[in-house]
Amino acid sequence: MSGSKSKYKVLLAQPRGFCAGVERAIEIVEQALEIYGAPVYVRHEIVHNKRVVDTLRQKGAIFVEEVDEIPDDSVTIFSAHGISEAVENEARLRNLPIIDATCPLVSKVHKEGQNHSANARDVVLIGHAGHPEVEGTMGRIPGAVHLVTNLADVETLKVADENEVAYVTQTTLSVDDTRDIIEALKQKFPKIIGPDVRDICFATQNRQQAVRHVTDDIELLLVVGAQNSSNSNRLREIGTEHNIPSYLIADAAGFDTDWLEGVTTIGITAGASAPEELVEELLERLKECGEIDLELVAGVEENIQFKLPPELTDASNTSDGSTIKA
Ligand code: SF4
Repeated sequence: MSGSKSKYKVLLAQPRGFCAGVERAIEIVEQALEIYGAPVYVRHEIVHNKRVVDTLRQKGAIFVEEVDEIPDDSVTIFSAHGISEAVENEARLRNLPIIDATCPLVSKVHKEGQNHSANARDVVLIGHAGHPEVEGTMGRIPGAVHLVTNLADVETLKVADENEVAYVTQTTLSVDDTRDIIEALKQKFPKIIGPDVRDICFATQNRQQAVRHVTDDIELLLVVGAQNSSNSNRLREIGTEHNIPSYLIADAAGFDTDWLEGVTTIGITAGASAPEELVEELLERLKECGEIDLELVAGVEENIQFKLPPELTDASNTSDGSTIKA
């Protein structure tokens, strides 16, 4: 019937959006602002999301890329992705009051790598070059660390002793790609040691599983997240691997109505650093294009919460926030 409104079924993947590590990192900045007052300085985007960064900036956070941009005595927060030892040392040498928002699951990978190194093993880090988490992890492990991103890297990899090798992984990789790389490493170094459970974090795994759950039923996948968000890119890749047109968009403004051509069922998810309000805004945008039949797809329920660092919990018990450590 001419003039009738288009209808779209929208499958909303669950879980999606904020993970426990991101919620903790944002809370750290908010509490630091409350306890110590503005400004507080954050090295690197606290999490990879412009909306989150802009909101915190409005509240008084100042984002910098390097420690030398931070004025003396200013409260200094390290982002959820973690930092290298060199960066931490630079801040400590200047006696900057530090609050570390590194996700505890990233810190766990740092510790694993350090243990391997202390046992004289070459460490293979499976991850993406240039990602801040990878830079931080490489800079936390003394001794030989080899970054591998794909199977070709495994083929050309050379280590000091093939019997003394271990691997760790970036927390936000594709479960499937990592499985293949680990398999190739095991073929090449039969004695290689790795984590009992993959280092890929629960949030990344759950979000990927939730997308896989809807791929048979959708003709378009929209992932809300930043272009530089590793876990968001992996979600988009899952759609592409299933031959579904898949787009990673920062917000509703990034949505192109041409993508709806011939589409009746749309899957929507969001990366671990994307706030739910961005998903809601995208749904509003879709409603302008047609009638929406929204279905929440049942998925894993997450109830993990990470503790805040002592610099905040101790300081909030004092009137002047005086317990922050340099
Ligand atoms: S995605 Fe995983 S590792 Fe990264 S902040 Fe969230 S919980 Fe931590």
